[in-house]
Amino acid sequence: MNFKECKRCGTCCRKGGPSFHFEDKGIIEDGHIPARHLYTIRKGEPVRDNISEKIVYAPSDIIKIKGQKNGWTCFYYDEIEKRCAVYKYRPLECKLLKCWDTREIERVFGKNLLTRKEVMSSVEGLWELIVEHDQRCSYKEIRKLTDEHGKTKKENLSEKIDEIIAYDKIMRELVVKKGQLDSELLDFLFGRPLSVTMRLNSAEKL
Ligand code: SF4
Repeated sequence: MNFKECKRCGTCCRKGGPSFHFEDKGIIEDGHIPARHLYTIRKGEPVRDNISEKIVYAPSDIIKIKGQKNGWTCFYYDEIEKRCAVYKYRPLECKLLKCWDTREIERVFGKNLLTRKEVMSSVEGLWELIVEHDQRCSYKEIRKLTDEHGKTKKENLSEKIDEIIAYDKIMRELVVKKGQLDSELLDFLFGRPLSVTMRLNSAEKL
């Protein structure tokens, strides 16, 4: 490419949006980009690496902006005006991304990623629930059970996987109904539902 400034074509904003870094913590805490507009890719969750274009397992939480209508276009991208609705407060990766020269973004890619711990660990009660959910719905454990089931076809292994998925579903329902939690926060606090991510992952043939 031979241009040297952003033409506001929106291509980068339609490709899944940024991952949050430590530097972006204040944007969430100050409410410029509220947590209900975010989702978390949890540790161990299969994810497409935008640089290598391969599927890798998330090394830690990866916090991202939700897409529009469950697609890849960033929630904040205004298709009509061709602009970012939070431009002044856009995350680090959006500031660094220049599609004609990716050196700056490659330097930070995957480094100093913000996790839920930095944002949520001071919220008593809720943080403990997040940790418990992470332990009971660990992607590493699910992968182990799935692999074993693939080899041995043992019925009790698929039952265990179903139990984990059921716990994930019931826990989400309970925190909304009994805990009065805003349902829009669920994908940030507990990652996307396992019923969704496991369907996506099998579609990717992982
Ligand atoms: S936050 Fe703004 S600049 Fe970043 S991907 Fe979304 S719309 Fe684009």
